Amino acid sequence: MLSLDEAREVVLAGCTVGHPRAMPLADALGLVTSVDIDAAEAVPPFDNTAMDGFAVRAADTSSATPDTPAHLTIVGTLAAGAPPDLTVGPGQAVRIMTGAPLPVGADAVVMVELTDGGTKSVTVHESPKTGAHIRRRGEVLSTGQPLLPAGRRLTAGALALVASHGYGQVPVHRAPRVRTLATGDEVVPPETTPGPGQLRDSHTDFLLAAGRSLGLAFEPLGIAPDREADLDRLVARGLEADVLLLSGGVSMGEFDLVEGVLGRLGCTILFDQVAIQPAKPLVAAVHPGGLVFGLPGNPASAMVAFWLFVRPALRRLLGHTDAYWHGALAAELDAPLPGAKGRDRFLPAEVEIRSGRLLATPVAPVGSHDQATYAKGSALVRIPAHSSPAPTGSPCEILPLVDWRLP
Ligand code: AMP
Ligand code: MG
Repeated sequence: MLSLDEAREVVLAGCTVGHPRAMPLADALGLVTSVDIDAAEAVPPFDNTAMDGFAVRAADTSSATPDTPAHLTIVGTLAAGAPPDLTVGPGQAVRIMTGAPLPVGADAVVMVELTDGGTKSVTVHESPKTGAHIRRRGEVLSTGQPLLPAGRRLTAGALALVASHGYGQVPVHRAPRVRTLATGDEVVPPETTPGPGQLRDSHTDFLLAAGRSLGLAFEPLGIAPDREADLDRLVARGLEADVLLLSGGVSMGEFDLVEGVLGRLGCTILFDQVAIQPAKPLVAAVHPGGLVFGLPGNPASAMVAFWLFVRPALRRLLGHTDAYWHGALAAELDAPLPGAKGRDRFLPAEVEIRSGRLLATPVAPVGSHDQATYAKGSALVRIPAHSSPAPTGSPCEILPLVDWRLP
């Protein structure tokens, strides 16, 4: 049986980053740049003022103090957006507003707070340094300098930056199309009242929400009965997507038909067991058009399999360069942690930040059907295989289920 890390490597090796495509900015949040993006213009594009005040020649006011102010003649006003068609001559000043272009001849701006004056002349009480409050053309970026490197997640700030350079579209890796299909004769839609022996599907809503947390809209194909003909038809539809997320039907029972269906439809099974608890009977497969996961039916197992395998695979397809356990954080136990036998165990944990420390309170579930406990955690705590119980205060490794770096 593959270890977690071995199985993860096998899955990630089967992930090909999405082809580059141009995406309108409004649809690009959370996607990843496919090429370096350069500054289309100098920033600022022209010399302008950082303050409301008066554009002056610094030499004219070099001896100005509150007791011996300088008196200048106002020759005009420049608002933001005005053409820079005024000139400041000796003894003159131009009234100027933040963002307005610097008039010809001026080499400093005096803040309005340090002046007195009417409409015709201004009294300056302080001597500005040459260049004071002037934002010079290109001082932030010159044309052609790098704006965003390839492989960068597009946050709100990154999109604002790209917009300010006139890019209406941004080159990104195409997001994977993902479909979901729950399986099981006993599984009914959540809005249905289950009959004897039936239970409500919780996987579909979990997967759709978990997909949204990655910025992806999964397409649900519903619930398939445990019958080969129905499964073949629905799984074939699922395989048209880049990633198919099946759930249930991967254990050792007589009606666990998923692996057989995948084989018939031309998929190559990568593995059908991983040394983890929960989610041991996880199936991963590839086919020429993409990737398939057969998530275990138990709700906690399906969740853990998603966080440990599906999320890193989708992140890789999206073009993110970090992966799985690199996203894990060092934390401190705020409650004792049980040990593990031959498989890495994952327990849900509440994580709290107290005085700058990350404190994890793991909660032991009743079993892999205990969705209530797994649904509470904001992280998973890893208990490495063969480890002994650890007391409160020991270091631990957590995998956040919430992406704290989201824009
Ligand atoms: P299976 O892997 O099909 O043997 O399912 C294992 C367990 O998970 C069984 O108790 C199923 O009833 C349960 N299960 C399977 N699919 C779902 C689902 N979509 N939602 C909730 N429980 C499920
Ligand atoms: Mg089943």
